[in-house]
Amino acid sequence: MKIKTAEFVVSNTDIKKCPKDSIPEYAFIGRSNVGKSSLINMLVNKNKLAKTSGKPGKTQLINHFKINNEWFLVDLPGYGYAQVSKSKRQVFQDFITSYFLNRNQLVCTFVLVDSRHEPQKVDLEFMRFLGENGIPFMLIFTKSDKLKPAAITKNLQIFKNKMLAAGWEAVPRIFTTSATHKSGREELLNYIQELNKI
Ligand code: GDP
Repeated sequence: MKIKTAEFVVSNTDIKKCPKDSIPEYAFIGRSNVGKSSLINMLVNKNKLAKTSGKPGKTQLINHFKINNEWFLVDLPGYGYAQVSKSKRQVFQDFITSYFLNRNQLVCTFVLVDSRHEPQKVDLEFMRFLGENGIPFMLIFTKSDKLKPAAITKNLQIFKNKMLAAGWEAVPRIFTTSATHKSGREELLNYIQELNKI
């Protein structure tokens, strides 16, 4: 897919204020600092569409971006950042939960995990929430430039095994990306393009 336009539309914490358009929507989520903003910027070829920072826990809103006037890319708050106060984390969860349970346009959610790490409890809990609510998701292994290919293959297998051990009957498709090397971009965009056709 060629990216012709990528525009910021709106940020909020209220599902009712999300855009009304019924074009297909794809959400990106993961633990804070997983490389979500860098990945989004790499996907749409813009340096600053999503904010990147070394400081975890910064994006705390549902951010809608309209791509090619055809689909929404949604940047969701990072989860599992320990230093956010408990009450605030609860607020995240409520509006994130509400987003997932009510957003009919949502076609697929991309759950980002750092290629270097095993799935954390919070990742498994989040995927369970998606599974239990019938919300389709795929996985993205980020920052793949930080590992040799063999180590990535090994970590993919560890991740799959952990999901199977956690009760999943099958493991979703896993994309591998690096914002630094700009790799994995075409696969992901082509996948979205295929889903857009359905
Ligand atoms: P977010 O909090 O999930 O949005 O993560 P950011 O995109 O802000 O990235 C967090 C940190 O990881 C920053 O210091 C980025 O420079 C770094 N980072 C993000 N993506 C990559 C990548 O693909 N490779 C490498 N080596 N570092 C990355």
